[in-house]
Amino acid sequence: MKYLTYLKNLKVCPFCEDIKGKILLENDGAYLTYSLAPYHKYHLLVIPKRHVENLAELTWEEHICMTALFVTGVKTLGKLGHNDCTLLTRDSGSLGKSIKHLHGHIIPGGFIQDTSLNTAVRKILSTDEEKNLKKELKKISKL
Ligand SMILES: [Zn+2]
Repeated sequence: MKYLTYLKNLKVCPFCEDIKGKILLENDGAYLTYSLAPYHKYHLLVIPKRHVENLAELTWEEHICMTALFVTGVKTLGKLGHNDCTLLTRDSGSLGKSIKHLHGHIIPGGFIQDTSLNTAVRKILSTDEEKNLKKELKKISKL
């Protein structure tokens, strides 16, 4: 399924309502998960548990929780041999952020192309792709 179709069919915030089976690790304030529409096979996401759209809305405790999971995510990708990662967080809703709920990306590699075009070309993982990726990431990160 194309990512654009997935977005058009969304009825609820996926990071509030559809996150439970997708969590790799969590702490008091945030989740570490994977992208359903990845820029790279091992594209991870750090998502605050509370629905906020801007960095300034986070409490300091939530910032710390997100940072801790960014570190864990980067270490996990390092175990997969990806020692160079891009961390990306789009603040507010005007920079191509397709899901309004604030989230941070951890993407292996440096350059991720023109992100404004990616909604049109990105695809959603199939059920099997998602199942295999989750199993692999949990095994590698020992989460
Ligand atoms: Zn949300």
